[in-house]
Order: sequence, then structure tokens, then C-alpha cells
Amino acid sequence: MKILVLPGDGIGPEITEATLNVLDRVNAKFRLGLEWQMAEIGLASLKKRGSTLPEDVMEAARSAPGIILGPVDHLQYPAREQGGINPSGELRVKLDLFANIRPAKSRMGVGLTGKPVDLVIFRECTEGFYADRNMFMGRGEFMPTPDVALAVRKVTARQCHRIARVAFEWARKRRKRVTAVHKANVLHISDGLFLREVRKVAQEYPDVELDEKIVDAMAALLVRDPSKFDCIVTGNMFGDILSDEASEISGSLGLAGSVMAGDDACCAQAQHGSAPDIQGQDKANPTSLILSAAMLLDWLAGRHQRNVFREAAQAIESAIDAALQSADTRTPDLGGKLGTRALGKHLAERL
Ligand code: NAD
Repeated sequence: MKILVLPGDGIGPEITEATLNVLDRVNAKFRLGLEWQMAEIGLASLKKRGSTLPEDVMEAARSAPGIILGPVDHLQYPAREQGGINPSGELRVKLDLFANIRPAKSRMGVGLTGKPVDLVIFRECTEGFYADRNMFMGRGEFMPTPDVALAVRKVTARQCHRIARVAFEWARKRRKRVTAVHKANVLHISDGLFLREVRKVAQEYPDVELDEKIVDAMAALLVRDPSKFDCIVTGNMFGDILSDEASEISGSLGLAGSVMAGDDACCAQAQHGSAPDIQGQDKANPTSLILSAAMLLDWLAGRHQRNVFREAAQAIESAIDAALQSADTRTPDLGGKLGTRALGKHLAERL
């Protein structure tokens, strides 16, 4: 099985190298039969080939059984017409990877607020306010005059329904509680539609409790006591913001694994961005991408009925949990001194 690997920008190549170090080890140990197909995207490929996501790479993504995507520095990209395609948004739409699944777990006992965190955010990631992907043609953002800018938010019953179903399925295997996060007090129609669909799905899961929170209160409640939450379902922008908050509260944004998944494809992608402020310094925490890769293995286990992939994913999680117990094997974001490369090697050795 050939996994497409796209290292991306900024710290992307560094954390991808550490991730492949770990994956090579589980691949050999569990005889997973995985191969890596490397391809360049982002600013490097823009310079060489005029596009941040060349068409042949997009083609490879269409047929790949799984993808590992490093963070991309799309704030620096030129307009689409000049080759600046956001690989993350493009893959989500073209491969129908509508469900961004973002766990936040305090892996060192308690999180930054002194309370344990163990929750998962389910974020619909193909529509909402995200102008680079929410229209069939054109962009959901425009300027009628030089001093007026408009952004259109797209919410469809189908995508709300689908993301809610993913959240309830996960909740069934977890603590049986879903919190729907919305702003229906102001966005009556669009978030009203979101809530209507979530409530509809909830009726099919009588064993799972549904609770609803307004997004601004939710931001505070997460800090007050994150242990109150299990599965959180929400739209694109609220999910993007709350998941960074939840991960940081759990210990560090560098610990935050994530996948974007559809019915037929899955892509491992760290929650954080390309961190240009620490690029090339061997300081980045690769755990986020390594945990994302473990989530991809877990998804492949279900998709191809190969339990050994799940065993490999669990082994990676255990190796990370064990490494984080000691200050000697933590990266600088967690107060440690270990470099990106050394953590990758250490985890591979532990495995
Ligand atoms: P960022 O997530 O890259 O960084 C925020 C802060 O967290 C920085 O201080 C950074 O050093 C730190 N950080 C992030 N990842 C870390 C890691 N693994 N280990 C240690 N520290 C880490 O956010 P930003 O600086 O606002 O964005 C930089 C670029 O990334 C922008 O172009 C943005 O659009 C893009 N971005 C991409 C993705 C993605 O590819 N999935 C997600 C978010 C942002």
C-alpha cells in the first residue's frame, strides 16, 4: 500500500522526517507492507513548478489509499491564478474529506489548567466561512468597493448531517456525550440549520446524550473545565479555533493529532500550521504529525479490515505517552530540550 507523503512548508519537512522515522519502525515491526510516495508541494513546488499543488500531485492524491500532509504556509501563497492553491482546502473538497477529527488529550497527566483533557472535536471542513473552498466556482469572498469586503458562509443540511453522524458514532465508543457548538442566537438561519440536523441525528442515537453550547461560552467553558466534554461537533471556523484552544490547554499545540476523513479517503494532517518562527531550528514537536499518522493507520484498519494497523497505531500512542513522562524526552514547547529529529529517533527505538 503506497501512502502519499507531502511534507509541506516551514517545519513540515522536519516533522515529516521524524514521522517517517516512526512509521518505518512500525511498518517493519508489524509487517504493514506500507511504502511512501514522496511529492513536493507548497512554496518549494511553487518556485520550481509554478504551483503549490501541481496537477500530477493532485492526481496521485486521488488514487492514494492514504495521505500524510505536512503543514502549509498558505498565508504566504499568491492568488490561485498565480499558482497559490491551498493544498489543505483543495484536498478536502476534491477528495470529499469533510470530517476534520481533532482529539485533544493531556498526555502528561493534566493539561495547562490543571484539569485532565480528553475530548475530540469534529469539525466540518469543506464549507462554512472558508472562502477558498466553499463555492463551486469563484470564491466566497468579494469586494464590491475598495472599502467594503463581504464573506459568504455556506452551511448545508447534508454536511451538517454527515459531521454529526461521525461525532455520534465516535461518542458511542467513548463517553456517550456530544456537545453541539453553534451561534444560533445570532446566526438564526445558518446555525439553526446546523442544530436542526444535529438534533435529527441525535434521535438515532438514544444512548448518546446531546448538549448544546453557544461558541463564545464554549471558549470559556473549555478553559474552566475541559473534562466536562467528550465529543464536540461544530462548523468549520468554530472547530478550527476551538481545536487549537483545546490542544493548547491539553499541553501544547504540538501534541495535537488530526485527520481529515471522508467515506473513501483519509489524510493525516497536524492541527497546527507551518510555524515559520521555529522553522529549521530542530525545535518543532513532531508529535502532532506522528499522532495524525497513527490516526490514519487506525482509519486504514477499519477501511481494509486489517487489525494490525490498529495495533501499530496503539503502539505509537503508547510510545508517545511513555516518552512524555520524562522531561528528558520532551521538546522545547513542553519545557524539554530534545530536538525534532532526536524525538523521532527516540520513539522509533522505543517501538
Ligand atoms: P502555527 O500553528 O504555525 O503556529 C502557532 C504557534 O504555535 C507558533 O508559535 C508556533 O511556533 C507554535 N507551533 C506550531 N506547531 C508547533 C509544533 N509542532 N511544535 C512546537 N511549536 C509549534 O500558526 P501561524 O503561525 O498562525 O501560521 C503559520 C502558517 O501556517 C500560516 O501560513 C497559516 O495559514 C498556516 N496554517 C496551516 C495549517 C495547516 O497546514 N493545517 C493550519 C494552521 C495554519
